[in-house]
Amino acid sequence: MHELSLMAETLAIALRNAEAQNARQIHRLTMAIGAASGVVPDALHFAFDVAIQGTIAANAELAIETIPVTCQCPQCQTQFSPPDWIYECPTCQTLVSQTLTGREIQLKSLEVS
Ligand SMILES: [Zn+2]
Repeated sequence: MHELSLMAETLAIALRNAEAQNARQIHRLTMAIGAASGVVPDALHFAFDVAIQGTIAANAELAIETIPVTCQCPQCQTQFSPPDWIYECPTCQTLVSQTLTGREIQLKSLEVS
């Protein structure tokens, strides 16, 4: 399961970060997840609940911000948000394979004390 290793990695970064700030507890982690990143938020929440056991993040909450997919057409430069998994330019109907946003997986912020 992809989300388990992803969460383990994210939590490791969070713990290192908290340690660097001499924090005793992590209260909240906020992650930004692109809608086309392939990450399932429910699975991430599940992985989080498992990963935090026995760490200073054991009582922490996971917040997930979903970043919508946006594309730019290489033909006419139109920027658009595709309504589904087919990225077709609404202006000239070119199929677009590149995305501007929507594939991010990142730890955005951390609340510690
Ligand atoms: Zn276009």
